[in-house]
Parts: sequence; structure tokens; C-alpha cells
Amino acid sequence: MSTEQHIKKLRDELNQHNYNYYVLDNATISDFEFDKKLQELQELERLHPEFFDANSPTQRVGGEVTKNFETVPHNHRMYSLDNSYSKEDVLDWEARLKKIVDGPVHYTCELKYDGASISLTYEKGVLVKAITRGDGFQGDNVTANVKTIKSVPLQLKGDFPEKFDIRGEIVLPFEGFNKMNEERIEIGEEPYRNPRNTASGSLKLQDSAEVAKRPLECLLYSITGSNLGINTQFESLEKARTWGFKVPRAAKLVHSIAEVFEFIDYWNSHRHSLPYETDGVVIKVNSLRQQEELGHTAKAPRWAIAYKFKAEQVSTLLNSISYQVGRTGAITPVANLEPVELAGTTVKRASLHNADQIEKLDIRVGDAVYVEKGGEIIPKILGVDLSRRPSNSQPTQYITHCPECATQLVRVAGEAQHYCPNYNGCKPQIIGRIQHFISRKAMDIEGLGGETVALLVNVGLIDNYSDLYELTKEQVVPLERMAEKSADNLIQGIQQSKNIPFERVLYALGIRYVGETVAKKLAKHYKSIAAIAEASVSDLVNVDEIGIKIAESVLDFFSSEENMLIINRLRDFGLQLEISEEQRMGQTDKLNGQSIVVSGVFESLTRDELKKLIEDNGGKVSSSISSKTSFIVAGDAMGPSKKKKAEDLGINIINEYQFLQKIK
Ligand code: AMP
Ligand code: ZN
Repeated sequence: MSTEQHIKKLRDELNQHNYNYYVLDNATISDFEFDKKLQELQELERLHPEFFDANSPTQRVGGEVTKNFETVPHNHRMYSLDNSYSKEDVLDWEARLKKIVDGPVHYTCELKYDGASISLTYEKGVLVKAITRGDGFQGDNVTANVKTIKSVPLQLKGDFPEKFDIRGEIVLPFEGFNKMNEERIEIGEEPYRNPRNTASGSLKLQDSAEVAKRPLECLLYSITGSNLGINTQFESLEKARTWGFKVPRAAKLVHSIAEVFEFIDYWNSHRHSLPYETDGVVIKVNSLRQQEELGHTAKAPRWAIAYKFKAEQVSTLLNSISYQVGRTGAITPVANLEPVELAGTTVKRASLHNADQIEKLDIRVGDAVYVEKGGEIIPKILGVDLSRRPSNSQPTQYITHCPECATQLVRVAGEAQHYCPNYNGCKPQIIGRIQHFISRKAMDIEGLGGETVALLVNVGLIDNYSDLYELTKEQVVPLERMAEKSADNLIQGIQQSKNIPFERVLYALGIRYVGETVAKKLAKHYKSIAAIAEASVSDLVNVDEIGIKIAESVLDFFSSEENMLIINRLRDFGLQLEISEEQRMGQTDKLNGQSIVVSGVFESLTRDELKKLIEDNGGKVSSSISSKTSFIVAGDAMGPSKKKKAEDLGINIINEYQFLQKIK
């Protein structure tokens, strides 16, 4: 096989695997195998730039940076949709169209996905352009970003037309959205408000590598072009599916308005089980010939109508507003509501986000408020029922002092959140910081949990994370719910954490905006905490992925005398504050992109040593087995349920010696 053929074969295989995984939700090879093939292709493409292809699966990782998105005309106008809010509206629509077309009318019913609309242009089976809706006549060229979305085919399969446009909606499924938010909260960033805005914001990010990291999906619903050889809307969906597009299976061909109503009723009550947000259904005349006859109004097609679900809202009373202080000192106002049933759960609290939000809604204690719950973790307050406002109601005064330590709050220009600046004296900040320090991705201290940390702070045994290393068994045994054995485990867990590698210690320090990835970048670049502490802002921003906001936060952290004292103590206690010599020597890319689970106990090395070896060689240690797991390193006493899961998923299990062989 020639190199060119070899490259083509790998591209085809990888495209097929992407399709299986992201469109069919049905992976047929392990991530490990996939990454191996991808790396092989990357290497061949590097050696043979003459075979470059902008639509190679290697291009999905992104990297192209767009400063200003180019505005380009749509090949075919992107219309909006007329809305309806009741079954009468739908019956009126039917009556209108029956006056125009003769003969029976059939309908395709689809879900109305709530995201950002996109128009994709394909020529000869490859994606050439992706354009946002814009004003319907022209939109922004976001091709580089859209290429990173794995469910968007870069190369079509089967019997596709020479040239056509296909429209769809780019959505951010709830699971990925919630996960992104958990990570943001963890490093002191404000969570995103809702999946739809986050999806459309993602399309406009300048760095496509950032877009590649977001779990976006593209759901397709309509094809336009000439000589497509398609006669109905339903047929076009089925065809698009065979060419490799992700077309949700919910779409249904029906033969009467009565059946349309069945579809609406069904999804009205089942939509909460969908993995992404929907805000209604779209009903389309099925026959394309009839569609043509019906034509468009100035704004929307006459042959389609959106039926909007009534948002599941309830009204309830706002009993009080409380203010939470986070680990970074950020204040979050929380609405305490009269408990109310909504979309199958009892809602008692909702986030009010910040002072601006309270002011914008003019929300006051005693108000009747409207609450809505989507698939997000936190329910939201949509507004106030002013007709029910008590006559003696007073505007909400945002707090000026910390509810926990009474320090005057500060608000940095351009930031939405108020902060308590009492970094070293404010209880929730002290406790939150230590809880972050011991957490799984940080120092991973076994035998110590978040509640025990709070207890240790409250009884005055510790004030900051360096105090942990001086705790003695005698001090902790008398504590509530503490037995000999658990005290032993706690002390032992703390001592063992001294082996945790530098990059994780750096993450554990809880520097604002320094998440896992940033900590790794800093550790790799500077190699020691001393070097980071000496770096200037202009130094720091030269490091890959470090912007001005992070740089200033790092500088801020290390210019505090208190922090430096704590770091010196950590050094005295023997924590890893620089990359170890062996780590410098032993770092490879052999496990790049692989997700590895460690289970059981080992003979020749500790779990921490094993985890460090995985990370030093570019791999990622993951705590639970999933279809994404590349392989498992198992020692003695691997749990039987883990074992079964691995076998069910067909994931390779190796022992420590096989692992050491692998990275040799
Ligand atoms: P609107 O934004 O309210 O004018 O509604 C029109 C938009 O609904 C279109 O631009 C699409 O982005 C979106 N949409 C979502 N799902 C569908 C679907 N199944 N068919 C047509 N449009 C849809
Ligand atoms: Zn405070």
C-alpha cells in the first residue's frame, strides 16, 4: 500500500469510528485503539505534508484562530419560523394551508432543538462552509469552529448530491453543560447561565481548539439545493441520516392533524428525558411540491409552524435571600423559596447570580416569583408577578459586608460578583480552600472528607492546609465520629499525600483561575514553585494558554506574605514543590490522550507512584470505568463489580508489570 493509500485508509477508518461514536452512540473500538490510529495518521501527515487535507479527522482538534469572523451570504435564505402556542393556532394554520393546496396533506413532526442555528455547505461530499444564521441573508463564517464538532461529518458516505446546504442546530447537551459548569465553579469562575447561550457563544470563540473541548453536538433538520432527487421532508431526513448526519430519531411522519397533536402531547410530557434542551415541536408539510406551492411570507415558510411548549413554570413566594461565600470569596445570592413542585422535583432554592440580576428583576422578599427548571442543576427565576407585590414592599438592598466575617465587600470593575477580601480570616473561604486542597483531583487525601475539614477548622486544630501536616492522632481521636482506626487512616492519608507530584500540588493551592490544565502548563514550563513565584505578569502570559487574568491572579497569590509562609511550611514538610529529577527524566508522550483506570493494590509500587507514572507519560488517570477508558491497570483485590464492568465494555486489563513494560 502506498503512503497516500495508507493515509486515506486511516482517514476513512477514523471517520467511520467518529460516526459510530458521536452519531450512532455506538463505539466499536476502544479509545485506546482510536487514539493509536489517530496518532499514526498525525505522524504520517507530518511526514507527508503534500497529502494535507483540511477535512482530515486530525483537523478536529482545532487550533485555527479567527480574530474576526467573515460575513458571508447564505446560498439560500435562512427563514425563521412562525410560532403557535395552542392547538387552535395549529388548526388555523391547517385551515390556511388547505385553502392553498389540493389533496391530502401529510406532516413531518420534529422536535424544536434549542441551540444555535447553522447552515452547512457540502460539495462533493466534503464540508466546505459553516455559517451562522445571522440576519437570514448573511451570517458569520464559523467553519473552523464547526469542524471540531465530532457529530458533523467532514466526509459524507453513501449516495449524496454533488452540492447542497443542510441546516441544523448546534446544541450543548445538559450533561456536558453541567460538567463544564462544575469545572468552572471549582476554579472560581462564574458558571454559564444556560446551554443555548453557551452553545452560540462557543461558535464565536476565536480559538477553535477551545471549541474542540466543548461537548457540542449538531442535530440536522433540513436540506436545500437543486436536483436533489428528494420528494418529501421525511425522506430528506432519512437520506441525510444515511449520508452520516445526526438526525434525531424522534422525527415522525403523520397523516393528520390529530396525529400531530398526539406527537405534541407525547413530547410535551417526555421532553425532560431528552439529553438536550427543546422548546417545542416543528410541524412541516411533508410534500416538497406542496411546500413550493405554499411558499414563504416575508419572514417564514407558510408550510411549517413551530408549536412552543409552555415552559414549565410555577409561581411561588420568595421568603428570603441569603448570601453564600465561596472558596474564592465570591458572594452568590440565593433565593429561598416557598417549596413548590416543578418538573417532577421540589424546588426550594434558586440562584440569583449577582447584584445586577437582582436589580434587573427588581426582586424583593415577599414577591411572588416565576420559577423555571430546565436540565440545568440550578432552577432559575424568570421574573416577578408585580400584580401580587405587597404594598409595603421595599427594594432589595444588596449586602455591603460579608455575612460570615463582616468584612466590607469589594467589587472589581467589570466583574459581576462581589467578593469578601478577607482571604485569611473568612471561615467559608478557609474551609473551602482546604476542602479543595484535599479533593480527589488535588492532593487526593484518603481518609479525610469535607465535613471533617470543617470540623477541624471549627475546633481550631487547623487554619490553613499546611497545618494538616502537623496533625497528630491524639488530636483527632477525641473528635466527633472519629475512631482509632479512622484517625489512623486520616493521618496516614495526609502523610502519603507528600508524594503527590508538583503539578497537582500547584492545582491544590487553589489559586483563582488555575484549574488542572493551567496548573499542568505552569508546572511543565517553570518546573518549580520558586520559579513561578518569581515570574512577572509579562513572563506568565508567554506560557501557552495563560492569559492576563490568570497571570494577574498568580502574581497576586505569590505576592502575599501569608501565602509564601504557608508554601515554605509545605516545603519543610516535604511536599513536592518542583518537578522531580526522575520526572524530568521520565516524562514521555507514550500515553498521550489515554484515559487509564487504576484498581487494587500493587506489589512493586504504590498507587500514587503508579498514577504519577501514568501522568508523567502523558496519560490521564480516571477514577471510573467507562467506554472512554483506554485500559485498566489492576493489582490484587480489584473489585468484582469493576471487573465485570470492564469485561462488559471489553476493556483491556493489564497488571503493573505489563504496564511498566509499556512505558519502558
Ligand atoms: P425562531 O428562532 O423562533 O424563529 O425559530 C426558528 C429556528 O428554530 C430556526 O432558525 C432553527 O434554528 C430552529 N429549529 C430548531 N429545530 C428545528 C427543526 N426541527 N426544524 C426547523 N427549525 C428548527
Ligand atoms: Zn468574609
